[in-house]
Amino acid sequence: MQYASTRGHTASQNFSEILLGGLAPDGGLYLPVSYPQISADELNTWRGLSYAQLAFEVLKKFATDIPEADLKSIVERTYTADVYCNARKDEDPAQITPLRVLQDDHGGKLILQALSNGPTLAFKDMAMQLLGNLFEYTLAKQHAELNIFGATSGDTGSAAEYAMRGKKGIRVFMLSPHRKMSAFQTAQMFSLQDPNIFNIAVEGVFDDCQDMVKAVSNDLEFKQRQKIGTVNSINWARVVAQVVYYIRGYLSATTSNGQKVSFTVPSGNFGNICAGHIARMMGVPIHKLVVATNENDVLDEFFRTGVYRVRKSAETWHTTSPSMDISKASNFERFIFDLLDGDSVRVAALFRKVETEGGFDLSGKPGSDGDEFAKVARFGFESGKSVHANRLQTIRYAEQKYGITIDTHTADGIKVALEHLEPGVPMIVLETALPAKFNETIREALGRDAQRPAGFENIETLPQRFVVMPANVEQMKAYIASNTGL
Ligand SMILES: *Cc1c(COP(=O)(O)O)cnc(C)c1O
Repeated sequence: MQYASTRGHTASQNFSEILLGGLAPDGGLYLPVSYPQISADELNTWRGLSYAQLAFEVLKKFATDIPEADLKSIVERTYTADVYCNARKDEDPAQITPLRVLQDDHGGKLILQALSNGPTLAFKDMAMQLLGNLFEYTLAKQHAELNIFGATSGDTGSAAEYAMRGKKGIRVFMLSPHRKMSAFQTAQMFSLQDPNIFNIAVEGVFDDCQDMVKAVSNDLEFKQRQKIGTVNSINWARVVAQVVYYIRGYLSATTSNGQKVSFTVPSGNFGNICAGHIARMMGVPIHKLVVATNENDVLDEFFRTGVYRVRKSAETWHTTSPSMDISKASNFERFIFDLLDGDSVRVAALFRKVETEGGFDLSGKPGSDGDEFAKVARFGFESGKSVHANRLQTIRYAEQKYGITIDTHTADGIKVALEHLEPGVPMIVLETALPAKFNETIREALGRDAQRPAGFENIETLPQRFVVMPANVEQMKAYIASNTGL
C-alpha cells in the first residue's frame, strides 16, 4: 500500500515511511493511493473476532510493509483488557469498545460505544497506544531514536505520554500552560515518573506553548540534530487505528451485512470522524456520519452551507467541552480531497486560500470556489451543534433516562444524535471521554461529583514530576539538548 499527498506530491511512500512524519513535503496530508475494500465475506468472518484480531485484519490492509507476524504481536499487546481497564462496572473490558443500548423505541435505537476506557480516559488512547508500540518497533528496526515535542492543553499530551512512557528509543517533551489545566489533567500527566517523559509547565497560556513548538519546528538544523518529531492528529496511523472501532461498532450493532448503522461523533479536528469516512469508503454499510460540534462550529457551518471558514483565536471559544475547541479542523483536507474526486491541484489551491483568505466556499453560489457541497450527502455527512446549556441538559437527561453519567463531549454527541435519529437505523454515539475528566461541569449539571475509575481516586495527591520554564525558546532548546545528549 502506497501513500501520496492530498496536494499532489507524488513520490509515494509506504506506511512505515509516513509513520514517523507529519505533513507531506508539499504541506498536504497523506492518504493511501486507493482505499482497500472490505468484502461481504470478510465482514461476515470478522463478526466473531476479538478487537485485537479485527485490528490486525484492518491494519494489515494499510501497513503492508510490516511483516504480518510483527503486526499481529503489536496489536495483541495494544488492545488488551489490561490497557482498556477503565470500563464501567457493567461493561466487559475485554470488548475494548463495549456498546450499550441507551434507547430503543419507535423513534429509533440509540447506542453508546465506549472509546474512553484506556489509561487517560479519553478516546485518543485508542490510536495513541498503538502508535507507541508501532514507533518503538519501527525505531528499533532502524536503530533510530525519536524525541516527541508537543504542546497540550489536556487530552492529546497525556494520551501521548501514556502511550510512550517506558518505550525504548523515545522521549517525550510536552509543554503545557503552567497552572492552566484542571487539577485532574495536571495530575494525570505530572504524576508519571518514567525517565523518558519530560513535563514542561510554561509560564504562559496554551498559545505561548504552541508558538514555542512552532519556533523549534522551524529551526530545521535543531530539529534534525535533536531528532524531533510530533504525534499530532494528522498522523495517518492514528486515523487508521480509529477505523477499527467503527467496524467493531458496526459489527456489534448488527447481525447481517444487509443492515446499516449511523454514527454521531463529537468532533474538533475531524480526526475521529475522518476514520468513519474511511470505514465507509472501504465498504462498511454506514448510513450517516453526523458531525457534532460545540460552540466552535466551523465544521457544522460547512456541513450546513458548504462554506469552510476558519476562526481567528479571538473567535475560538473556551468551552466546557474543551477538546473540541478548535479554530480549524486539521484533518478536514482528507475529506475535501475525496469530495473533489482526488483533484489535488484544486485541493492545494483551496487550502492555500485557507491560509491567505481564511477559508473557501463550495456552495456553488455565484463567486464560490466550486459546487461540490451538493455531493456531500453522497458521503453520508450531516451535522449539528451543541452549546453549554445543551450539555448540562443532556448530562441530566442521560442520568435520568438512561441511568448513565456522560462527559461533556459525549453530551454534545448525544444532543446532536437525538436530532438525527431514524427508525430502523441504529445510531451509534462515540463516547470520547469519561465524566471524571470533566468533573467541574458534572457538578454543575448534577450537583455531585463524577465517579472515578479505580486507581484514580487520589491522583491529585501523587508526587508530581515537572519543570517550570518561561516562554523562552532558547532556554527550551537548551533543556531539550541537555536531556537528549544529542
Ligand atoms: C480530541 C477529542 C475530541 C475531538 O476529536 P477530533 O478527532 O479532534 O475530531 C472529542 N472529544 C474528546 C474527549 C477528545 O479528546
